[in-house]
Amino acid sequence: MNEKRQAFYKSRQWENLIKLLRIERVSEDGFVICEHCGKPILKAYDCIAHHVIELTEDNVDDAAVALNPENIKLVHFRCHNEIHKRFGYGNQARIIQQVYLVYGSPCSGKTTWVDSVAEPEDIIMDIDKLWSAVRSGSCGLYEKPPELKSNVFSMRDCLLDMIRVRRGKWHNAYVIGGYPLQGERERLADSLNARLVFIDTPKEVCLERAKQKNSDWTDFVENWFERYSPPLP
Ligand SMILES: [Zn+2]
Ligand SMILES: [Zn+2]
Repeated sequence: MNEKRQAFYKSRQWENLIKLLRIERVSEDGFVICEHCGKPILKAYDCIAHHVIELTEDNVDDAAVALNPENIKLVHFRCHNEIHKRFGYGNQARIIQQVYLVYGSPCSGKTTWVDSVAEPEDIIMDIDKLWSAVRSGSCGLYEKPPELKSNVFSMRDCLLDMIRVRRGKWHNAYVIGGYPLQGERERLADSLNARLVFIDTPKEVCLERAKQKNSDWTDFVENWFERYSPPLP
C-alpha cells in the first residue's frame, strides 16, 4: 500500500529534519507557531509536520519534495486534520488511513488529547472504554473484574486486527495505551504501521490527577514510570 511512505516517516533523515525544524521555528515566546491557525503549539506531541505537496509513492524518494523545509509546515494535529479535509486530500482515491499509537502514563491525558483531535470518521481503540463497554453497573467506575479480562483482551485484539489490515472506511485510527516498554511499543507500532505519539506529561502532574481518582491510580502511575523505557537515541 503506502509502505514506502510509511518507511520514510520512520527514517532517521525525516526525524532529524523535523527535530531541526522544531528548533528553528520556535518563536520568541518559546513555542512553535502553528502554520495553519497561527496559535502556539503548546505541547510537542500536538505538533505534526505536513507536506504541502503531498507525499506519494512517486515523489517520496525526491528529497526536493520530501525533505524540503519549504514544503513542510508544522501544525497542530487538529489543524492537520482540517487541512486534509478542506483541501480534499480525503477523496476516495487518495485516502490514506493513518494510525497513531498514543502512549504514556495513566492520567497523562491520552484520551483527552485524542478526543480533542479525532474526527467522527476516525476510529479509537482505548482499552478503558472496552472495559466500560462490558462491565456491569455494579462495578466501580474503574473496576476491571479479572473474570472479564480475556474477553476484553479479545475485543482489543479484534479491533487491533481491523486497524492492522485497514478494514473499514475510517480515516485515522488512534490506539491508546500505556506501552511503557520500548520493545513492546516498537513492535506494536511496526505491526500496525503506526506513528508514535508520546503524551509526555510530567510525573507530578499525572500523580496529582491520579490522587483525584483513588490510591490504585497513584500506584499505576508510579508503576508506569518505573517500567518506562524511552525510545533508543
Ligand atoms: Zn493550528
Ligand atoms: Zn499532511
